[in-house]
Amino acid sequence: MTARLAGKRAIVTGAGSGIGRATSIRFAEEGALVLAADLNEAGLAETAEAIEKAGGRVRSAACDVSDEATVEGLVADCVAELGGLEVIYANAGIGGGMEPLLDLRAADWEPVLRVNLIGPFLAVKHGARHMKEHGGGSILCTASVAALRSGAGPTPYSASKAGVVSLVQTAAYQLSGTGVRVNAICPGLIETGMTRPMFDAARAAGKESRIGQLNPLKRYGAPVEIANMAVFLASDESSYVNGQALAVDGGLSSSHPYVPGRIA
Ligand code: NAP
Repeated sequence: MTARLAGKRAIVTGAGSGIGRATSIRFAEEGALVLAADLNEAGLAETAEAIEKAGGRVRSAACDVSDEATVEGLVADCVAELGGLEVIYANAGIGGGMEPLLDLRAADWEPVLRVNLIGPFLAVKHGARHMKEHGGGSILCTASVAALRSGAGPTPYSASKAGVVSLVQTAAYQLSGTGVRVNAICPGLIETGMTRPMFDAARAAGKESRIGQLNPLKRYGAPVEIANMAVFLASDESSYVNGQALAVDGGLSSSHPYVPGRIA
């Protein structure tokens, strides 16, 4: 069977941990050449080692993907070193603080919007500039179920992710006729570096079995379950999927709050 991403060159951001690491590994397993980008050099080295041990090809770039010159440079490096760019996955993100709404200051929003929303915008802009001149491509962003409705994250984080959903919708139309597709993945609760403190606290309190109980699959997710959606969106199998925000959340976002057993 042909590898699903054979011949594709892909940038993955946030590749030093969690969802980005799992996606970089899955992309390489499916035949893509991967440029893995992250602030975290030690994490990047672990990702690269895992890919190379399995026989895949990867380059790494330690960088801040919320900086425009950096993202422009990443695209140029991918083209120069890997020979092109067909896929860019803007996945890096931060949680920001947990301050309640009435205690938030404008300054609390700035890093969250810079990394979580301006970062994906830069990936869309510079990725699409290359792709539209070279036969198209697939751009993915990580949003969140927190983008879709309340209750899954702090206010600036949730608003930044809602911005990502809007970004992929507007970008898909701005890029009409170019062959560039732009989609977002909205993960539910996934065990990663970002959520580790919550998992550690629940385990320390002997409450691990309570994690992830709000969705109908009654469990939390693994990074590879998001990576598998990323493989689909990066591949030509999703050739007619564009401008969408796809939830991968065990069904969490499919319901309004309800009392179990009272209604179907
Ligand atoms: P993670 O394990 O913390 O991975 C995120 C990676 O992004 C980290 O290695 C982090 O480096 C890096 N990063 C942060 N800011 C960066 C920047 N400016 N430039 C380059 N790299 C940067 O968390 P994750 O859960 O895999 O997060 C991936 C994406 O999924 C994020 O966009 C997150 O919002 C989203 N998401 C996660 C969940 C979940 O339940 N885990 C749910 C919904 C959405 P440092 O560690 O050095 O900061």
